[in-house]
Amino acid sequence: MPERIYLSPPHMGENERRYVDEVFASNYIAPLGAFVDRFEKAVCDFTGAGAAAALSSGTAAIHLALRLCGVGEGDRVLASTFTFIGSVAPILYQNAEPIFIDSDASWNADPKLVEEAIIKERPKAFVLTHLYGQSAKVDEITEICERYGVPLIEDAAESLGATLHDRPTGTFGRFGVYSFNGNKIITTGGGGMLVSNDEEAIVHARKLASQAREPVTWYEHKELGYNYRMSNVLAAIGVGQMEVLPERIAQKREIFERYRRELEEFGEIEWMPEIPGSRGNRWLTTLTLRRSDPKKIIGALQAQNIESRLLWKPMHLQPLFRGAKVYGGSVSEDLFARGLCLPSGTAMSPEEQKRVSRIVKKAL
Ligand SMILES: *Cc1c(COP(=O)(O)O)cnc(C)c1O
Repeated sequence: MPERIYLSPPHMGENERRYVDEVFASNYIAPLGAFVDRFEKAVCDFTGAGAAAALSSGTAAIHLALRLCGVGEGDRVLASTFTFIGSVAPILYQNAEPIFIDSDASWNADPKLVEEAIIKERPKAFVLTHLYGQSAKVDEITEICERYGVPLIEDAAESLGATLHDRPTGTFGRFGVYSFNGNKIITTGGGGMLVSNDEEAIVHARKLASQAREPVTWYEHKELGYNYRMSNVLAAIGVGQMEVLPERIAQKREIFERYRRELEEFGEIEWMPEIPGSRGNRWLTTLTLRRSDPKKIIGALQAQNIESRLLWKPMHLQPLFRGAKVYGGSVSEDLFARGLCLPSGTAMSPEEQKRVSRIVKKAL
């Protein structure tokens, strides 16, 4: 069996291990410490966000953002339907009602449906996903949300480093969320970050993430909190990974360009678009097929020990959300039926990638 090629495995740089050694030397093996502060600062410096809180996951960051927007029992919250469960499960944690928004040709949320849903539903917040590292129409959507006074939470879990008009995704709305799960463009083995220009809100997020302990010498609690802070050990990995993020983005974009060159002759493939004025991080190379069945391609790759995947199954099709309201729906359903993610690990060699392309070509 040829060596396994994964979809998007971790890719460490030069310094991560050295920083973890420093943590061991200091014995600050705790959910606070110098590397947590440094990691938060590195993300602020890179994105231009005013403040950041390092957390145990991207899902935790979305949960805290909803809490800070005042989302509670029975509130309606808009969300992109074409996304990963971590984006919307926190709406249920708050006993709120998700209302799903379909994609347009950009694959991300359709601004027209966003406005229609805001007018009809008067939601308490909107969780907008930037899928697969490509910016949504977040300038238009920010403008709509501001016009109606709906707080925007950007799920930029997959799109760290992507920009629209040179502004990083995650910095348009009231809150932005990044993930450092094992398969993301950079990873801490598990982790997330909540960013905002509202520094007070981030201070509150850090408190909620630390069991909402009041600042007194004994353990005093006035509000409900969580254990959501990031460990100093993982933050040390994060600091090292932030140093290589620009290189990882360049590598992901190169992988995409190589697939495009190797596969476009068929006229059978359409690639996930990059909307005008945007520059994606191309976290995963994603595409739709005009006629072929994506499951066949996945099977052919699997037979050669290569991991690939269907696109996300829309949330309004998930049994968990049976009966949930959705604005539109057919665009993301069609993407799910015809789409595919190709292996996009930044440590993959051009030869390995050629092997993937050859199998895809043969299967087509
Ligand atoms: C990965 C991901 C999340 C959740 O992040 P975790 O760190 O795994 O909790 C949320 N939304 C999207 C779109 C993701 O891809």
